[in-house]
Amino acid sequence: MKHLQRSDDPPAHSWNAVPLVRDRNGVEWEVGAAQRHPQRVRARLEQAVDHWIERARQMPIITRVKTPIPRPTVVYDLRGSVAGMAVSLREQPGPPQQWMHVHPELLMRYPIQMIQQTTPHEIAHLVVDWYLPRTREHHGAEWCAVMRYFGRPPLPYHEMEGQRRSIAVEPPPQRRLAL
Ligand SMILES: [Zn+2]
Repeated sequence: MKHLQRSDDPPAHSWNAVPLVRDRNGVEWEVGAAQRHPQRVRARLEQAVDHWIERARQMPIITRVKTPIPRPTVVYDLRGSVAGMAVSLREQPGPPQQWMHVHPELLMRYPIQMIQQTTPHEIAHLVVDWYLPRTREHHGAEWCAVMRYFGRPPLPYHEMEGQRRSIAVEPPPQRRLAL
């Protein structure tokens, strides 16, 4: 994602190689994250959404016969332990409306991970919901294939404090679709 980089943006480290530090309250942050401006961090995430949606539209085979996936609406409204959430609302017979929900506090604490890994993770869910709506398994073969196409590790969990190795980072698909 080098072309998305600007001089005042978070450095382009691999997200899982970024040093973590604790503030005086014992809260964990990516190093340097506390100094970043929230609007700039959000602008970078929005650029990443554009990037992955554009990549998804170029996926071979499945994209040939369907309407290209639209850009989702990004909403910064998550609280608690869920870092990101993909929501597809399908009202028959039309195509689904899609949102990516983001945890704004975790985005400030872990901007590199949230932009480099959580964002493609959630976009991959939207891609599966859009192109392969009959898919049953949340982190199944279809989702893993999109992640590999994106060049991102198909990890079902996020690596933030309080979530490590936790599979249950998102509500199950039925609830996502009902939101
Ligand atoms: Zn997921």
